[in-house]
Amino acid sequence: MSGLVLGIESTAHTLSIGSVGMDGTLHPSISAVFLPEEGGIHPREAADHHSDSASTLLTKISERGGFEWNRVEAVAFSQGPGLGPCLRIGASVARSLSVRLDVPLVGVNHCVAHIEIGRNQTGCIDPVLLYVSGGNTQVIARAEGRYRVLGETLDIGIGNMLDKFARTHGIPFPGGPEIERLADACLQEGPPSLDDVLLPYGVHGMDIAFSGILTSAVQKVRDGIPLRVVCWSLQEHAFATCVEVAERALAHTGKTELLLGGGVACNGRLRRMAQKMCIDRGGSAHWPDNAYCVDNGTMIAELGRRMHQCGISTRVEDSAINPSLRTDNTSVAWA
Ligand code: AMP
Ligand code: MG
Repeated sequence: MSGLVLGIESTAHTLSIGSVGMDGTLHPSISAVFLPEEGGIHPREAADHHSDSASTLLTKISERGGFEWNRVEAVAFSQGPGLGPCLRIGASVARSLSVRLDVPLVGVNHCVAHIEIGRNQTGCIDPVLLYVSGGNTQVIARAEGRYRVLGETLDIGIGNMLDKFARTHGIPFPGGPEIERLADACLQEGPPSLDDVLLPYGVHGMDIAFSGILTSAVQKVRDGIPLRVVCWSLQEHAFATCVEVAERALAHTGKTELLLGGGVACNGRLRRMAQKMCIDRGGSAHWPDNAYCVDNGTMIAELGRRMHQCGISTRVEDSAINPSLRTDNTSVAWA
């Protein structure tokens, strides 16, 4: 029977386990998402959720048709970046499985995993990645054996900004999908004028700031502008900043493919903006299925497979988590 790599994701709110065949065939993940009863995500509470959920997820994955433990050739896990207590749960599960199954352990960079699952799913060869998730917002491109960060958020991740705006108005986590629904509802009533709901536009060179737009959007609702109108304007401004920086990255690097990744890449408006920008300049925009945009174990398995096939593994004594791991810490040995 052909082998597979198991992947464990636990950087933040999601504990997820997925697998990929040695030929790159992706198998959907099984996930458990921590939803705080109120407020933002508390790392310790999320970690407790993950440790409570781990055995259920492992049982579910092992009961899947075609899954056999003796097919597992390597166990990959998110080594960073992320919330320390959450990362530690995934790392512990991965270490135990690797020792129990007597297969290599592969510690992987979560940000790079978003790129590799996107390349696998869309067939992109050498894209600029617009990585827009809860905690991260980066524009990334490969150069000289690394995925280099060309631009990024100067404060909070775009997803956290959307979630925080939503939470302020009683919308539970994840706020992004509901903001998208309200913005669509606003458009259906007839497009408002952007001039009536101007927000700060936080592009600073190749970097982006989101905290000013958040404060200002909350103030607009207080001033009496309907929530759906502010949601629409918030999306227009925030996504335009990301697409502008991504366009400049395409122009500077000479690359032609844009790949979206991270949970915010589920957003239809962001996808349309990215597609329009790329088509206007003779390029193309791509994104994986929604299940592979949000954090998932399959993407960790896919990067683990790439590394394993290059002979890269992580000794248990080197497998400590690294909450502040950077995208360009990881050398990229694979094609
Ligand atoms: P991740 O951190 O990559 O797992 O992605 C989670 C983030 O994606 C959360 O901040 C969500 O609010 C956001 N998100 C999910 N779906 C959408 C959507 N349709 N539009 C905007 N943001 C979204
Ligand atoms: Mg992520």
